[in-house]
Amino acid sequence: MSQNEKQWSRRDFLKVAGTAGVGAAITMPGYQVAAASSGQSVVPTRPFGQSGVDVSILSLGGMFDIRSNLIMMKQAMRWGVTYWDTADCYQRGSERGIGKYFDKFPEDRRKVFLVTKSDARDPKGMSRLLDRSLDRLQTDYIDLYFVHGVSRIDELDQDTRTWAEKAKAAGKIRLFGFSSHRNMEDNLLAAAKLGWIDGIMMTYNYRLMHTDPMRRAVDACVKAGIGLTAMKTQGGGSIRTDTDTELQMAGRFLQKGFTDAQAKLMAVWQNPNIASICSQMPNMTYLMANVAAALNRTKISARDMDLLQRYARETHSNYCAGCTHLCETAIEERVPIGDVMRYLMYCRSYGDRDYAAAEFKKLPPDLRRQMADIDFRPAEKRCPQKMAIGKLMREALDELG
Ligand code: SF4
Repeated sequence: MSQNEKQWSRRDFLKVAGTAGVGAAITMPGYQVAAASSGQSVVPTRPFGQSGVDVSILSLGGMFDIRSNLIMMKQAMRWGVTYWDTADCYQRGSERGIGKYFDKFPEDRRKVFLVTKSDARDPKGMSRLLDRSLDRLQTDYIDLYFVHGVSRIDELDQDTRTWAEKAKAAGKIRLFGFSSHRNMEDNLLAAAKLGWIDGIMMTYNYRLMHTDPMRRAVDACVKAGIGLTAMKTQGGGSIRTDTDTELQMAGRFLQKGFTDAQAKLMAVWQNPNIASICSQMPNMTYLMANVAAALNRTKISARDMDLLQRYARETHSNYCAGCTHLCETAIEERVPIGDVMRYLMYCRSYGDRDYAAAEFKKLPPDLRRQMADIDFRPAEKRCPQKMAIGKLMREALDELG
């Protein structure tokens, strides 16, 4: 726990929860939402690896219409959510929205830890996308620049390293790293050996954080001084109330004053090696709920952690763990099974069908046409989560195609 966090107490949380930045405390089902005014209590910070930079433990994911939500962005600043995440490929004008914000509030640029990402891998493409991002974001530097969605560490090579060093020397980026939704554990372990990666954003949640491979991978990054940001922390969506475990867990968290969604964030923050959680917060309701969770100093107890793990075991076949080196190599056709699973999650768990469908439609048309006829049984045999891959691929075709 950082010094900044130690300064926090339940008293602080209640003070903030009872203080309205804009007038009155807001009550949500099951908990009171924090509402801090400028200069008062804010989300704590943690060191980002050994970069020398402290970042807010809650990061604002930017996959939404930021241009129409500048007031919410301002409120995020007031509550100390100063780590903002976007990407060149995010739709709905994400980068341009942040640029519009900085144009309106230029004094806030230096207070924000700004992350954007490149889909390119080659130096020429990366330079083009970085310049475009700088232009859209109306800034002359990016705090942390990620190669977006790395599946295998060999997507980064000496050319990438040289490019990153030049971009740093030119003052266009301060830190460099990558994001990863697939084969995260292997990518983290390999990155720790490279010696030139400053930060990584990876899928990390209550389902994955206790596994031996993930623990080893996080430990290696910590030793290498790499800053870590967790994403996809909800582990596939809200807890339902179909089984005894689900009912027990939802009820237990509500009794303690927070929702299961907040509990999942708090479980991840309980690992001090995770500098920040990147969460999509497309409106004030999400922002308030997540800020309240970040300010809540209640510990997730060992029993609560056990319940989360039991729930994870009972629902394993609904969750894709991103181990695509297992399933995608089991079939001849180059179907990005892990990506399609993620699009289904955006649609079904996040309720964002438009984004999911737009991403799905980027797959080559021939591949999409083929998908209904592919025999996915060899992939299913290798899947540790026992997912019904063939059925889910066909459902993705119906729902998103
Ligand atoms: S479908 Fe199964 S094997 Fe493939 S990435 Fe997901 S969990 Fe891993």
